[in-house]
Amino acid sequence: MTITKIEAIPVAYTEPNDSNSTRSLMFCRIETSDGIVGWGEAITQFPEASRAAAVLLEGLADAVIGRDPLEHHSILAELERRSWWYTYEGGIGAFVMSAIDVALWDLKGKVLGRPVSELIGGALRHELPVIASTHAFNSSLDFEIERHGAYVQRDGFRGIKIGMGKRGEARLGYEFDRDVDFVAGLREAIGPEALLIMDRGQSLSWNVDEAIRRTQAFNEYRLAWMEEPLEPQDVEGFRRLRQQVSCLIGTGEREFTVRGYQRLVASGISDVVGFDPGRAGGITAGLKVIQLVEAANVWFNAHAWSSAVTTAASIALSASTNRCMIFEMKPLPNPMHDELITQPFTQHDGLISVPRGPGLGIEVIESVVESYRMH
Ligand SMILES: [Mg+2]
Repeated sequence: MTITKIEAIPVAYTEPNDSNSTRSLMFCRIETSDGIVGWGEAITQFPEASRAAAVLLEGLADAVIGRDPLEHHSILAELERRSWWYTYEGGIGAFVMSAIDVALWDLKGKVLGRPVSELIGGALRHELPVIASTHAFNSSLDFEIERHGAYVQRDGFRGIKIGMGKRGEARLGYEFDRDVDFVAGLREAIGPEALLIMDRGQSLSWNVDEAIRRTQAFNEYRLAWMEEPLEPQDVEGFRRLRQQVSCLIGTGEREFTVRGYQRLVASGISDVVGFDPGRAGGITAGLKVIQLVEAANVWFNAHAWSSAVTTAASIALSASTNRCMIFEMKPLPNPMHDELITQPFTQHDGLISVPRGPGLGIEVIESVVESYRMH
């Protein structure tokens, strides 16, 4: 059996969990001579990045076509050798490697008739606790408090994570007293046991003192962790912050490479290491990052906020380690989750199941992919 086709499919879609903004991603579809298809994804987010990744992938296609899909490691090594100049420390090339890696895992599982979770060593848990992870968008924070309370009290999510400084009218992260009142209201609405995570969006630029002040004030309402209160490269700022706040601190989602994660974990600034298989080297790199995380006794947190392909890959990784606290799900129905595959992921009683079908355990509906294809 050989790989006969590899295709990049950039798509664009409306994301209700991000104020109905248009987001983009790039699928990678690999087909074998036996007609078996594997799917991967790059979470490129912006249309120009999806297009650029597609060009790179198409340029590398000849390194994949004609190969046995089970020669996964050797295919990746060849891709690294071919792309050394433009994937050093990440960038668009890392998106391409990530998408191909996940597609090869999916393909390998389908060829062998085994779920990826088994191929990577077996799931330690067959269900993961889930939280609702979303962006506030409404100008009325009472509306947002009620909405998020309902995710926990009505729908059963084990907690919530809210991105601040995002699109929409909520304007979180700008006015200190209003932000703190919001967090107090959230804690009241979700109850004492639910996990509460606040995430500074990239568009907010707090200095270290502001980050410390907000983290301390938010943590009066018991944060599970505070995510990226500072820009990820501000290692000294994180060190200062960590001396003055008692909650866990999360960062890592913007890393591109295992080397980057090595540096991050060694720096000691991150208690909750964000990782996206659609960005930082797929499932293969995710397993290496999990080893780093386990050795340092910190937490692994999948940044699974894209399509069901990345969700499936992220669940397999998350279930392979006891250092995963929670799994994040977008609470509002969205096309790349709820239209894309035949059996969309859902949570029951705050738990999501590890897929048991071959490969990623999902069935992508090709006509849906086509209907969102960017032209
Ligand atoms: Mg984040």
